[in-house]
Amino acid sequence: MYGPGVQPGGLAIATIRCMWAGMNSFSFSLHAESGQARTGVISTPRGEIRTPAFMPVGTAATVKAMLPESVRETGADILLGNTYHLMLRPTAERIAKLGGLHKFMNWERPILTDSGGFQVMSLAGLRKLNEQGVTFKSHIDGSKHELTPERSMEIQKLLGSDIVMCFDECPALPATDKEVAESMRLSMRWAARSKEAFGDRPGHALFGIMQGGVTPELREESAKALQEIGFDGYAVGGLAVGEGQEAMFGVLDYAPGYLPKDRPRYLMGVGKPDDIVGAVKRGIDMMDCVLPSRSGRTGQVWTRYGFLNIKNARHQDDPRPIDENCTCPTCRNYSRAYLHHVFRSQEIISSMLLTWHNLHYYQEIMAGMREAIAAGRFDTWETEFHAQRAQGDIEQL
Ligand SMILES: [Zn+2]
Repeated sequence: MYGPGVQPGGLAIATIRCMWAGMNSFSFSLHAESGQARTGVISTPRGEIRTPAFMPVGTAATVKAMLPESVRETGADILLGNTYHLMLRPTAERIAKLGGLHKFMNWERPILTDSGGFQVMSLAGLRKLNEQGVTFKSHIDGSKHELTPERSMEIQKLLGSDIVMCFDECPALPATDKEVAESMRLSMRWAARSKEAFGDRPGHALFGIMQGGVTPELREESAKALQEIGFDGYAVGGLAVGEGQEAMFGVLDYAPGYLPKDRPRYLMGVGKPDDIVGAVKRGIDMMDCVLPSRSGRTGQVWTRYGFLNIKNARHQDDPRPIDENCTCPTCRNYSRAYLHHVFRSQEIISSMLLTWHNLHYYQEIMAGMREAIAAGRFDTWETEFHAQRAQGDIEQL
């Protein structure tokens, strides 16, 4: 029932240690395994994060269309904030003066911030990259900025982030093996500078980011380099950038195995429900993605029976909820006909209700996986998950 080295009696001891440690420091307790899938708890001074965990994305200090207390009600233990967006507007210095990001956005629980590197690559203009870091122009007003490992650490500290990410570079695809290797080694030098600049901050964690594309040797080299520096957690970077699910799972079949078992593993920017389940199956503990919230704003709904588009005319006379078995406020109180109407009318409540449902569904998946792993029946749960999705949406009335 429990994985190697994890005994039922050990569970209570691990939990107690975790509660004590949670008072003033950052720690990770692995509670059970089922195959490669793991469940545990990350403890921070701002609360516990049950893993596997899905982190909704609060890009500009808000999960769009949601109150923070509503995000919490969906079951989220932690949010992600974007360094790139916040450094440009309203600026990290302003947020620090106003008491930090938690107070600023009214979310007292843990926050993970990315390093800004990925969005510099995907959003900013006129980028110049060298050993020192990256200079770029803001996509908002064209103003010039510089991000280095040191500056990224400074910004994330000003924001008051609980889990800080190393500043890294993710090469644009397609890239040759040589380009991927050079970029990975630059990221490892930046990881060492990030660690140095992060310093000693009890209760705050710094995660390293493994790079190396789809080449096992480069992934292994990167994992070793990171562990020599030493981090509180490790991310598998450079995925979810358009390589497709098969290539991503191909890397996840081996890459988590290069990382220490006793530290959380984070897959950045993933993904669709079946990506998330496949990643957890392969040993990932944390994920984030804009998909459930962004989809909610465009009328796209994720359910246990697959995907549906609320703007389709088939919903306009349908008094049934999106999912009769879903306990979210949207499904408890509103019909498909109403959701179709408010979406077509571009009413703000449409984004609110559809985002709430999508985030709730994602958190239900996470809770289901945590329970199944703890009971040692992840494979059975996964088979049911795929079977339900294959049924497709309910028949039209
Ligand atoms: Zn629902």
